[in-house]
This record gives sequence, structure tokens and C-alpha cells, in this order.
Amino acid sequence: MHKDIATPMRTKEILDKYGFSFKKSLGQNFLIDTNILNRIVDHAELTDHSGAIEIGPGIGALTEQLAKRAEKVVAFEIDQRLLPILEDTLSPYPNVKVIHSDVLKADVQAVMKQEFEKQEDVMVVANLPYYVTTPILMKLLEERLPIRGIVCMLQKEVGDRISAKPGTKEYGSLSIAVQYYTKAETVMIVPKTVFMPQPNVDSAVIRLTLHDEPPVKVKDEKFFFHVTRSSFAQRRKTILNNLTSQLPDGKQKKESIQAALRQAGVEESRRGETLTIEEFAQLSNALYPYFH
Ligand code: SAM
Repeated sequence: MHKDIATPMRTKEILDKYGFSFKKSLGQNFLIDTNILNRIVDHAELTDHSGAIEIGPGIGALTEQLAKRAEKVVAFEIDQRLLPILEDTLSPYPNVKVIHSDVLKADVQAVMKQEFEKQEDVMVVANLPYYVTTPILMKLLEERLPIRGIVCMLQKEVGDRISAKPGTKEYGSLSIAVQYYTKAETVMIVPKTVFMPQPNVDSAVIRLTLHDEPPVKVKDEKFFFHVTRSSFAQRRKTILNNLTSQLPDGKQKKESIQAALRQAGVEESRRGETLTIEEFAQLSNALYPYFH
């Protein structure tokens, strides 16, 4: 039996063998604790008929554990220097395919069609590069990929914002965007000591389970997200002030915005952070005719 990649000793051995130096700009903090990796993979609830997509395999620490539990793993890695290393470390796992690509530019939809023909379900599982956490998550959700969900490590602070409830200081347009597509839960808080090198921020693992249907009905998704972002533009301002300053010709259309707020049953003196996703849906539906 070979040794797991995710131990401090084996990781050092691999890095030394290839003379690899971490690139901070690519968010390279590798996991060196097999126990934590196993707990992450547990949350993905994979079966031997599952597919897994990984973003940023690094030297293969998480990839290896995914390969043991899923039928097939496809991993997107941006850093060319890691490709020969992965070929070496993952050689015991023929069910892994590494794609050299920036995941933000990749056609993930097409890759899924090609690579996961036979699998019953597909999960995204990743220890995300922290400099692009939000764009990666939003890309995966907005493209409506046929995935069951996402289990990922990220900055704790971003995890808190994603799973935040109305009325809290963490609640904002990111919470609403993610909760529109998924049920979001923080499932683990992770100490810095399980990474090499250790990151400056605290980390958490979140699980996002895709809704079959969005929890609210909106006339136009793009406009709904525009209204939510506008409502949080300045957190201390009232919803009326944010909407008049952010929506196109908002100042001239103040009376229409006030009418829409009344119609949606939202008092104009409230702040965006107090509105539920249902209230944002009613509000954007009421505003829609005035802006189209
Ligand atoms: N999965 C490994 C682990 O847990 O040890 C490495 C995780 S490390 C936090 C993030 C990885 O994502 C690095 O390997 C980095 O090179 C890669 N990466 C950074 N930006 C990327 C991007 N835009 N597309 C694909 N991979 C990226």
C-alpha cells in the first residue's frame, strides 16, 4: 500500500522531488491532513456510481481521496507545473482525469457531457483557491450545471456570508444569490494547521445542495439579482435610497419605486439586510414593469 499524499512528510517529499515552490497568487495552500480530507469527502456522500469534479487538485491530496470513493474524478488545474507531479502522484488511480485549464474559462458543461455519461450523479468537491472563491461558485451555479451539489473549503468569512440569514451583518447579495440556487450549510470549521503553507485567514467547509426548483418565482433572474445587489449598495442606507440611486433613472422614477415597495409590502425605510429572499422576489417582480 502506498502512503496517502496528505501527510506533512509525503507532501514535503513530493515538493522536494520536483523543486516545487508555492504561488501565493494562485491560492496554493495544500491540505496535509488525511483525516480532514476524509471528513470533507464524507459530506459529499459519494457512491461508486458518482462522478466528482475537483477545482485545483494541487499535488492531488483531495483528488486521491475522491478517486477512492467516486467512480470517476475530473480535476481542473491552472498551474502547468503541477501536471507532471499529478501524473506521478495519481498514477495508482486510473479513474482520474486532470484537465489543464483555468476553471473560470473552461466549458464545464461540455466537459461534464463528455466525461460523466455513465455516472448517476456528480458532485463538485474542492479546496478552493481563496482569491477566486466567489467567481468560481457563481460560475458553477449560474451555468446550471447538472450537479447534485458542491462541498468546498473556503475562507470562513465567505462561508458565513453565504449561509447568512436575514437581519445579520453577514447577510447580503451573495447570501441571496447562493440561496436562490441551493440550500447552504456550513458543515466544518477548519484550523490553519492542516494546510501547507498555512493561510492567513480561518477556513470552513460548506455544503451547497441544489434546489430542484428555485425557492421563489421571479419574472427575470437577471433583474432580481440586480435589485438585490442594488439594495445592499450602501448597507446603512434605506432600501428606497439604495434603489433610487442604483436602478437606471432611479431618481426620476422614485414614485414608481415607492409604488412597487408598497405593492410588495416592504416599508421604504427598511434596510436591504432585513428583507427575506421572498420579499426580494416580490419587490423585483413589482419593480419589473417600471424598468422594462
Ligand atoms: N486540492 C489541493 C489540496 O487541497 O491540497 C490544492 C488546493 S489549493 C487551495 C488551490 C488549487 O487551485 C491550487 O492547486 C491552484 O494552483 C489551483 N487554482 C488556482 N486558481 C485556479 C483556477 N482559476 N482554475 C483552476 N485551478 C486553479
